[in-house]
Amino acid sequence: MANQFDVVVIGAGPAGYVCAIRAAQLGLKTACIEKWTDDKGKTMLGGTCLNVGCIPSKALLDSSHKFVEAQNDFALHGINHSGVEMDVPQMIARKDKIVNTLTTGVGGLFKANKVTLFEGAGKVLANKQVELIKGDGSVEIIDTKNVVIATGSRPVEIPPTPIDNDLIVDSTGALKFQEIPKRLGVIGAGVIGLELGSVWGRLGSEVIVLEAMDRFLSAADEQIAKESLKIFKKQGMDIRMSARVTSSEIKNGEVHVTYADADGNDNVVVFDKLVVAVGRRPYTESLLSPDSGVNMDERGFIFVDEHCVTDVPGVYAIGDVVRGPMLAHKGSEEGIMVADIIAGHVGHMNYELIPSVIYTHPEIAWVGKTEQELKAEGVDYKMGSFPFAASGRALAANEKEGMVKVISDKKSDRILGIHVVGPSAAELVQQGVIAMEFAASTEDLALTIFAHPTLSEALHEAVLAVDGQAIHIANRKRR
Ligand code: FAD
Ligand code: AMP
Repeated sequence: MANQFDVVVIGAGPAGYVCAIRAAQLGLKTACIEKWTDDKGKTMLGGTCLNVGCIPSKALLDSSHKFVEAQNDFALHGINHSGVEMDVPQMIARKDKIVNTLTTGVGGLFKANKVTLFEGAGKVLANKQVELIKGDGSVEIIDTKNVVIATGSRPVEIPPTPIDNDLIVDSTGALKFQEIPKRLGVIGAGVIGLELGSVWGRLGSEVIVLEAMDRFLSAADEQIAKESLKIFKKQGMDIRMSARVTSSEIKNGEVHVTYADADGNDNVVVFDKLVVAVGRRPYTESLLSPDSGVNMDERGFIFVDEHCVTDVPGVYAIGDVVRGPMLAHKGSEEGIMVADIIAGHVGHMNYELIPSVIYTHPEIAWVGKTEQELKAEGVDYKMGSFPFAASGRALAANEKEGMVKVISDKKSDRILGIHVVGPSAAELVQQGVIAMEFAASTEDLALTIFAHPTLSEALHEAVLAVDGQAIHIANRKRR
């Protein structure tokens, strides 16, 4: 059949578009369906990540960080100036321009790789058939040998704080405020809440973050999480743990939020804007016909095996819509694995080594096992850490907060986890990911030459500290 595809990918986020490009590179006849349109009806590629996620949030984090530097840090370097002002519409316009460049770029990559783009919503029917529902309501069946579902996720909404896209917004709304809210509430001290709270807090909002759990960043290494919370509190961020939001009310253009604290007492806080950042859920609305054969797990994620195969052979699912961390790089790698498998190659992904990053200042990043996980698993480990306060490069850059922590197997010395809070934490942890992918021991890294002066030396010293051999700190007793 002339119009039969080898692969049809539903969703052009970082999971779907990467999968489509790799499939086409491998010589497969590939199409991608995307339904996201802007307010003028133009199809937008790149999914959550490029449009309302990773990229726009980082653009605003960079702008707001520069503002803080100009306001607080320049004088320290002897750069005297006055009258630093924030032009919020310009900051937002810069962010929108970056988003536009990148989303348009995905379209260019599709053309260059001969990926056919179908504009509209995709639906998986029985026997691996895909239905395309176009914007005008017309319907077309696309014949394909393989289907890849990459429909991503949506923000979770909670009944106490219904989104009105004016005073109460989700993460998407918090990326387009046109002025700095005087009092900003953030529900959820997860990655997204902390990043968006940082953006507006740096620009002058009084930010209060309300978090239901009693432990800050429970997925992170406990020591790093505690250190991070200490740093954020010192910076003036008001993070209230054990604060479960139970209701809200809009009165005279303000949001009155009620939360229950650890003692069960009700507290009310009043905000000019409220950001609800309580997590994301898999997005599968109108995606599966009842006879598609594709099933979901109890939390609504499409059920897949370790190679992202659903209950229907030839139908795969990748990215935020399946189990595992909701991270762009996780979805992209799954996309590559699936394309490789469809093309008849060996497809593999190491789920043990997916790095996590929180782009606050300082950044928090980690890969591998935390100390509390290893304790729970009964693994005998050793640990070394190094504070940035002892790093020459960090001091030169006035970035002395935080630390690098390395954990390795006590017997084999193989590195099991790397945890960083501090300057360029994401880049430092990435070095660790490479080392761990090659099953490095701390000795391997200890014998590696690190350029001086670099922040990376803190990783080197932490690795040396595992066996009590760090040079620039008084070493703790060996474990
Ligand atoms: P998505 O990016 O959600 O893309 C899915 C696509 O499928 C969308 O374009 C959607 O329109 C389309 N679609 C859905 N249903 C259909 C259908 N039936 N037919 C056709 N198309 C359909 N991750 C990181 O790794 N690093 C970060 O720094 C980071 N920062 C973030 C900041 C914010 C504010 C947010 C909200 C998220 C952030 N994330 C970050 C998470 C990241 O954005 C997601 O993990 C990633 O986008 C998931 O990719 P995906 O391709 O699975 O899904
Ligand atoms: P994440 O899933 O990492 O984006 O984090 C979302 C956070 O929101 C989690 O830590 C939740 O505990 C928190 N959360 C969810 N519901 C509420 C609520 N009603 N009040 C306060 N925090 C909440």
